[in-house]
Amino acid sequence: MKRWYSPDGVRFGCQEGCAFCCRGEPGVVNVEKRERARIAAHLGLEEEEFRRRYCRRIGVGAWSLLEHPNGDCVFITPENLCSIYAVRPRQCRTYPFWRNTLASRATWEREGRECPGIGQGKLHTPADIAAYLRGEGDPS
Ligand code: SF4
Ligand code: SF4
Repeated sequence: MKRWYSPDGVRFGCQEGCAFCCRGEPGVVNVEKRERARIAAHLGLEEEEFRRRYCRRIGVGAWSLLEHPNGDCVFITPENLCSIYAVRPRQCRTYPFWRNTLASRATWEREGRECPGIGQGKLHTPADIAAYLRGEGDPS
């Protein structure tokens, strides 16, 4: 991926209570094996029970969190908070620092029309961004 942003990085700061990225159009929230185990433990469930209640299979050994019929994640609260925030999946934790959103200035700015945190708040350096792309760290 060619770096299009300045050596200083890009600004991003999640706007509390927004929850755009947890609501709306149906999509996929990947939840990997060790994430399923962590969330299940957080909820006091066996992993199988967690999968049965809160996940759908999307491939061989691959699972997504369930959504309500309107596309909202099952874990979003009426107050727009994530009820499993401390153990949310990597996909949620690293948003919006995904390869597709970081692919170009245009894709980043397009995402910024949906996510009001893009362009605001803390500066995330190229080293930070490289870590997020590896699934490490937490941009929020
Ligand atoms: S990451 Fe962006 S879209 Fe998601 S809750 Fe924060 S500000 Fe809203
Ligand atoms: S798990 Fe939490 S952060 Fe991820 S989509 Fe659901 S409510 Fe949002």
